[in-house]
Amino acid sequence: MSVKKLFWVNPYQTELQTKVSSVDGNKVTLEDTIFFAFSGGQESDRGSIGGYEVLEAKKVGKEISYTLPDEHTLKAGDTVDVVIDEETRLNLMKLHFAAELVLVIVTENYGHPEKTGAHISPDKARVDFAWEGSIAPILPEVGARLNQIIQENLPITSAFENEIEERRYWEIEGLAKVPCGGTHPRETGELGKMRLKRKNIGKGQERIEITFDK
Ligand SMILES: [Zn+2]
Repeated sequence: MSVKKLFWVNPYQTELQTKVSSVDGNKVTLEDTIFFAFSGGQESDRGSIGGYEVLEAKKVGKEISYTLPDEHTLKAGDTVDVVIDEETRLNLMKLHFAAELVLVIVTENYGHPEKTGAHISPDKARVDFAWEGSIAPILPEVGARLNQIIQENLPITSAFENEIEERRYWEIEGLAKVPCGGTHPRETGELGKMRLKRKNIGKGQERIEITFDK
């Protein structure tokens, strides 16, 4: 049995009591978790297990391996509190979803350019496209469309496409259905106003950077 991933059930949950299922040196696995591990360009959460800071969270198949400091004393079967940093999670979740919306808007309206990269950190997201010349001319329109979707506060469905294989998707009715195993807000309005910026990264690629517009 691999870990039960409660960050999909309730992405707003920041504290959990569970049990350690295995310990291998400084790596532990849990029975249940709210602690997201780096996937799909979305960084891992920040937080602790049993009071020990998590140094790395890594997906291994359906399992998640958490690296703790060497001095930890946890044993299999121990009851532990898992705590994640709420602000980090919320910011990652919002920027991740904003990046997915930018991807949908650009792909569908500007000739389906290939996505060549993406990364989501708690203060900035980026999406890279194979693109000749500057992407700057389309940014005002893409930004306006993004902020319109946010302002409309549309409901976002997140669910399993295939529960056994743990394949997930999100959907906004009439707008998009996208395969993704990340964490997503429940309504677009949660994102708040976003700002887009172009970055020239060369080699026929253009980057769109997404930040909170505060
Ligand atoms: Zn996603």
